[in-house]
Amino acid sequence: MFVATISRFCDQCKKYARLELSPDSTLICPHCQTEWGKVDRVETILDRCPLCTCRQFYTDKDFNQVLGFVIMGVGIVLVPITYGLSLPVFALIDWLIYRKVPKLVACYRCGSEYRGLSDSNRFKPFIHHIGLKYDKFR
Ligand SMILES: [Zn+2]
Ligand SMILES: [Zn+2]
Repeated sequence: MFVATISRFCDQCKKYARLELSPDSTLICPHCQTEWGKVDRVETILDRCPLCTCRQFYTDKDFNQVLGFVIMGVGIVLVPITYGLSLPVFALIDWLIYRKVPKLVACYRCGSEYRGLSDSNRFKPFIHHIGLKYDKFR
C-alpha cells in the first residue's frame, strides 16, 4: 500500500523516528510524545515543511551508501583474478541497484525526510550553497 512517511531526529529526545503522514493529523514523537507539528493536507507538505515552514527541499536516493561501497570493494578485490574486468561489471551492478532505489525528499532547514509523496520528482539534488544557508538551523 502507498504510505507517505516523515523521518527525522526529534529535537527533544534526539531519537530517530518515522511517522505516517495522514491528513489533519498531529505529528507526535513516538519516543517522548513531543509535538513536532501539524499536517493539514498531505499534498501540500512539499510546498511548505509542516515542521519548520521552510519552502526548500532536495531529493536524495533512499539508498544505503554502504551497500554500494561494499559492492565496489568486492569488485576491487577481484581485480587480480579477473584482470580488471570485475570493475566495470561491478560498477554496472552498482548502477543497476542504484537506479531502482526510490527517492526521498528532505527539508533543507530541519532535515526531515519525506518518503512516498507523489510529487517527489520536481525537486533537485542537494545544492551545497543552499545547504550552507540553513546550516545554522541544524
Ligand atoms: Zn522525541
Ligand atoms: Zn523542515
